[in-house]
Amino acid sequence: MNFVFPPRAVPYLRILAQDEVYPVARIFCVGRNYVAHAAEMGGEVDREAPWYFTKSPHALAQCHQTLPYPPGTNNYHHEIELVVALGEEVFCADQNAANAAIFGYACGLDMTRRDRQQDGKDHRRPWDLGKDVENSAVVGPITPVSNGSDLLGRRISLNVNDELRQDGSLDDMVWSCAEIISHLSRYYHLGPGDIVMTGTPAGVGPVQVGDVVRGEITGLAPVMVTIGPAEA
Ligand code: MN
Repeated sequence: MNFVFPPRAVPYLRILAQDEVYPVARIFCVGRNYVAHAAEMGGEVDREAPWYFTKSPHALAQCHQTLPYPPGTNNYHHEIELVVALGEEVFCADQNAANAAIFGYACGLDMTRRDRQQDGKDHRRPWDLGKDVENSAVVGPITPVSNGSDLLGRRISLNVNDELRQDGSLDDMVWSCAEIISHLSRYYHLGPGDIVMTGTPAGVGPVQVGDVVRGEITGLAPVMVTIGPAEA
């Protein structure tokens, strides 16, 4: 079989202290997983069930580079998030099996066209133009774990230049990683290469051309990106 044109390269993440890389298949994102962020967005959190949106794997961007300010927005926002990378197949799994399937964790940025997301909310339309933005899933190197070791108590924070913008704790996640993966596995045959961005704490806000955005979670490699000029 021959392709009529060369397929796009497989998106991948780096793994801390390894030469091999982690090929990314799908990117799932959790909505409103921190109470304070839900409130600043004018919403509430409920414990009924987590909910999701997705980004194309081709929205993935490596960190430690300059990424252009995207077209189609005047309000591009940062969201620091814990990213969970799966290393095993998971389908209709309980929380123990979900934990066992975790390959590792990383710091990620769910960069968002907030104005286009608001359009979607206003018109009860999907969020794709707001969320599935090229280069908007910026993810640092994965720190592998042996068995979904819990990250409770760890600080999650984000600086723009020298200003602290987001500062929270993974304790404040409404849904834990195991709960999210277990729930998601009732709808998808999850497997190696699938990653989940698990929501952001309060303090989201706009970035400007020239900003250096740095996100950190205690014990993980940071994610860092510079916002470059818009493309002509
Ligand atoms: Mn988010």
